[in-house]
Amino acid sequence: MKKVALHWKIIIGLVLGVIFGLLFTQVTGGKQWVIYWIKPFGTIFVKLLKLIAIPLIMASLIKGISDLKDISKFKSMGIKTVVIYVVTTVVAIGIGLSLVNIIQPGNGIAEHTVTVLKNNYVTNTSLQGKLTEAQFQQSQGPLQFLVDMVPSNIIEAMGDNKSMLKVIFFTLFLGVCLLLIGEKKAKPLKDFFDSLNEVILKMIDIIMLFAPYAVFSLLATVVVTSDDIHVLLALLKYAGVVVLGLITMIGFYMLGVAFIVKKSPIWFLKKISPAQLLAFSTSSSAATLPVTMERVEEHLGVEKEVSSFVLPVGATINMDGTSLYQAVASVFIMQVLWPEGLVFQNQLIIIVTALLASIGSAAVPGAGMVMLIIVLDAVGFPKDLLPIGLALIFAVDRPLDMLRTTVNVTGDATVALLVDKLKK
Ligand code: ASP
Repeated sequence: MKKVALHWKIIIGLVLGVIFGLLFTQVTGGKQWVIYWIKPFGTIFVKLLKLIAIPLIMASLIKGISDLKDISKFKSMGIKTVVIYVVTTVVAIGIGLSLVNIIQPGNGIAEHTVTVLKNNYVTNTSLQGKLTEAQFQQSQGPLQFLVDMVPSNIIEAMGDNKSMLKVIFFTLFLGVCLLLIGEKKAKPLKDFFDSLNEVILKMIDIIMLFAPYAVFSLLATVVVTSDDIHVLLALLKYAGVVVLGLITMIGFYMLGVAFIVKKSPIWFLKKISPAQLLAFSTSSSAATLPVTMERVEEHLGVEKEVSSFVLPVGATINMDGTSLYQAVASVFIMQVLWPEGLVFQNQLIIIVTALLASIGSAAVPGAGMVMLIIVLDAVGFPKDLLPIGLALIFAVDRPLDMLRTTVNVTGDATVALLVDKLKK
């Protein structure tokens, strides 16, 4: 019998998870049952992926660097990576801003809908938590991100998935010094990391066997915990603009794959789809990273020295989907609550702050919304309206997060392919 491809198995898990979730929302006590008995399996899966993310980054980056013949190659790859990341993010913001200004989703929202959303969500604890987190981020100086990049204790940094840049910094430093001490002295450590790398790739294979079941659990949980369908429908036009923007962005990547890398977009999408489906199900680029790395190296054929650098860095700083969403959401909120703020100068401020905000967003569920607060603040959005603004978009944040994370991961994989091509 022909083996069913992994992405099909995951899609089946996803669809069944949605159906199961929908059925259980109709049953009394169904939501609680899913949370008690189904949710833990998805949580365990995400924990397993996070568990191997840090050792994988370290082993694979060290292998990538120590296999380099010439360290200057690394510098040019680093510059190309950052430039392409910035360009794709600016394109994403440009697409988002254009669509939201043309379609104007905020202009048809009824007064009544605003009141309902406000009453439903302003006091929501998760929304309030995002406001507090944004306040904390703002209280720090502009160079704080550089300070945050340098660890003072590597064990501590390895213990926190949000400290991925710290781990990358340490590993790059270690890898470069490994090259500098000469082959003979470096050999034992290099062999250790080579072997660790192989072991972790095997662990990913084993973890991925559970992916279809985990996706079932994750989706069933999302469905039973999501909001009333009426609230979601009221925000359909806004959500539609974000989705249209994200689809356009995927189209933009495909142009890059077809015309620069000269490969078929269908081939690319087929190979990368398990990572996309996991990004969709987990809403976390960081949790998806091990699978993205495995797909890009083993299935797209990108060299390790490229993928081991481009992908972990991309997961933390390149979030095209997130920046597009931030552009659309900030203008949408202004259209509804503060139309006088929609001047040209503020749209320029959105381009710059959404670029920086997407770099600063953590690769975890919901992080894009925290940084959205900072974008709104930068354009001078009235502080007292801020909780109401967030309440407006809160109900659809999770589904949009799932979609923008998929774009974030697709963007990282595309850039890895581009950098690999351009280095040849
Ligand atoms: N969940 C997104 C990610 O992990 C970040 C965000 O936009 O909230 O890529």
